Amino acid sequence: MINSRPITYIYDDPSEPSPLTPAHFLIGKRLLSLPITRVSREDFTGSRPSLLKRYRHQQNLLNQFWNRWRKHYLLSLRSMNICPPSKVTCQFKVVDVVLIHDDLYPRNLWSMGKIIETYTGRDGCENMEIVSRAKWGARESKSNLTMVTPVPHIFLHHTAMRECNNFESCCQMMRTIQNFHMDDRGWDDIGYNFLIGGDGRVYMGRGWDRVGAHTYGFNRIAVAFSLMGDFSHKLPSELMLNATKSLIECAKNENHVISNYKLHGHRDAGCTECPGSAFYNLIKTWPHFEGGPIPGYKGN
Ligand SMILES: [Zn+2]
Repeated sequence: MINSRPITYIYDDPSEPSPLTPAHFLIGKRLLSLPITRVSREDFTGSRPSLLKRYRHQQNLLNQFWNRWRKHYLLSLRSMNICPPSKVTCQFKVVDVVLIHDDLYPRNLWSMGKIIETYTGRDGCENMEIVSRAKWGARESKSNLTMVTPVPHIFLHHTAMRECNNFESCCQMMRTIQNFHMDDRGWDDIGYNFLIGGDGRVYMGRGWDRVGAHTYGFNRIAVAFSLMGDFSHKLPSELMLNATKSLIECAKNENHVISNYKLHGHRDAGCTECPGSAFYNLIKTWPHFEGGPIPGYKGN
């Protein structure tokens, strides 16, 4: 199979999609005959070195063509075909070549297009699923103190507890964390604004505009996202990292944080290992990161 089309004909239906060949990209259809070349008598004469040089040049051109065909055309088309519909961030970029879906015509007659501009969706929070408090079975919060939004800081944490890897186990974990925060720590609710499960879902904690209990000294001017698990010696999965990045994008696009927000790990604002060294080293490379100790840092 090439580009979801069989390499050879399977049926004898004339409208059966044909495989894409280099010729389709050069002249828009299948090449059925060799191109006409005008060969002059001089082409056959010449010394051995000049013929060799000419041969090498032609081979070189041919190799370059096949390399480009393989690396650029085939791969870029394929990456669009395997783009999964949900969860994983998979966005079209400017200059990507795409097939334009058209119900009126069979697939082999769809036109090709090049993306010249992209637009973010209205809510800016695509590519992720936010699980409501009702869905994970949250207890009622004891307070509803709200922040002045947009806030200037985002803090990343890890829960330093067990990981979860599906909807049921993550909901169970959310209830465990909430009980721990409310009953053992004596807080009003689960501490973080949002948590990210090993299943790639985002679980609503205190939400976007309620004061949390996560980063001493910054609870009224920051939102906190916590990744479920311990990331001191291992990185969170791609699924969790993508969800975290989408959540940060969402915070920015929906104006929950200021556009030049600062991103920190919990340890940048206080004496703690959180969010785990392995994860912390990664977020150092993310946009808007500011390492600590930041002004307002609380030591022991
Ligand atoms: Zn923390």
